[in-house]
Order: sequence, then structure tokens, then C-alpha cells
Amino acid sequence: MKNSMISNVIIKSEDILRNLDKMSLREVVLSVIPIYDQLRGFGKSLIPKEDASSARDRIIFYFKKYPEIIINGNELLVISGIQDYPRRVRELRCELGWRIVSGITMLEEVDGDGQTGMKPDDYMLLSIIQDRDAAYRWKTANDIRNSKGTVKERILTYFKENEGKEIQNEELKYIARNASEWARRVRELRTEDGYKIMTRTTGRPDLPVGIYVLIDSVQLPRHDRKILDHVRLTVLSRDKYSCQECGWRQDDWHQADPRHIELHHKTQHKDGGANTAENLITLCNKCHKKKH
Ligand SMILES: [Zn+2]
Ligand SMILES: [Zn+2]
Repeated sequence: MKNSMISNVIIKSEDILRNLDKMSLREVVLSVIPIYDQLRGFGKSLIPKEDASSARDRIIFYFKKYPEIIINGNELLVISGIQDYPRRVRELRCELGWRIVSGITMLEEVDGDGQTGMKPDDYMLLSIIQDRDAAYRWKTANDIRNSKGTVKERILTYFKENEGKEIQNEELKYIARNASEWARRVRELRTEDGYKIMTRTTGRPDLPVGIYVLIDSVQLPRHDRKILDHVRLTVLSRDKYSCQECGWRQDDWHQADPRHIELHHKTQHKDGGANTAENLITLCNKCHKKKH
């Protein structure tokens, strides 16, 4: 079956090449259509029906075969056999909770997490584990998306609704009604408003790319805000993401003792201390509390 599809394509293509001089532009175009159809059929036949029966099933089958690898939209076009594969990707993400990021969203995430080498029409499945909670979250996301308030206010509301949970960048972008400013607003919430929104580069190296967690709704004291993300990253990696007082690290996290790491100024702002890596140190929130 697969072989006959491909040999049909070859025969038809050779036929066109032989008669190219005698054909009008329209005749060439019309005779290419059945070749496209054959190729589409071939693409659809690459995954057995028992494994995946619909276009959507074939797309997720393909993603799960190549997780954490950048997949181009054209691959999904071949494997699904449909033009409208982006819609199926959205359904997989929103209705079924598959963590599929798109290149556009990753590129908007300019704070280091965005340097993943993805093009706008690329996709990547972040985890082969389906996020069962996501379908419910998307319902909340939809309500908040349609609510009044600025992009930043809506994003904060969504974070607070999902305190402690892993939120995907695609959800935040959706809340922002696709405005590309979503990434900047999240950074402002962290650096200016002092919300403990963590990513793999801002305190939670265990998280996959494109994932955000609001630790709790308590804002950091004013003196700890306005630390630039690249300074924060420098300090955290220098201190190996561990408390420089008691040695606690994210790997030690457990429910009975839910800590997180914070940055502390060795010389306080009021005494002229600056937001520089030299003046900052990594502490767990318990040790940090004792310092003040
Ligand atoms: Zn500590
Ligand atoms: Zn402090």
C-alpha cells in the first residue's frame, strides 16, 4: 500500500516532466494535485491505524515518540495529513493537557528560557506525562481571559488561582489574549511586585523550560524587589541553588517542610547596598526570615 502510493507519485511526476513543454500552467497545476493527494495519503499511512486513528491522534503519537525534541510544523502536516494541524495542537494542549509549546511563545520568553533555538512554526512536547489537571485549569483560564483588568492583573489572578502549581507559558499567553507582552508582565510581577514566580532560571532548576510556579501569594519585602533576572541567575548558579546558611536545596523539598529559595542583601538597601551579585546571597526562606 505504502509502496504503491510512492510509485504512483513517481510515475505521475515523470509523466508531468515528460509533457511539461506541451502543458499550460493550469494543466501542470491540476496534474500536480493527485500527487499531493497521494503524498498526503502516504503521510497519514505512516502510523498504523491501530496506534492512532485520527489526525489528532497521529500528532500526539508523533510528539510522544520524540519528546523534548523540536518538531517543525511541516512534520505535523505530513503526519496528520491536514492543513489545520495547529488547531489540533491547541486541542491537545487545552482539552487534553499535553504540554506542547510553540516556537512563537518560546521566542516571546526572552529572559533566557527563550534561547531554545526554536523557530515560530516549531513545536515541542515538554513531557510525556499528560497534565490531567490542565483541562480544569483551561476552564479557569478562559474565565479570566474574558474578565476585565489589565494583562498583568489577569495573569496575577490566574497565578493566585493556581498557587504552587506548574503553569505553562502557553496558558499565560492565552490569559493575555495572545498579547506578546505576557512575558514582560510576568517579569514585572516577579521583579517589581515581588511575587515569587519561579522558572528554571529564577530559582527552580528542576522545572522544564516554559514552566512557571507561583510559590505563594506573599509578596517579597520591598528591599528584595527590583533584582534583575540576569543578576538573580548569576547569584543562584554561583550559590548552586542552595541556602548559604543551612545548605537547603530544591531537591530537599517535601510537603512537610515546603521551603523555597530567596535572595538576601548582605548590605541592606537603606545602608546603601546595591542589587549586585556581590551584594546578594542565596538563602532558604526560613533562614532569610531569621536574618530580618
Ligand atoms: Zn536555610
Ligand atoms: Zn533579605
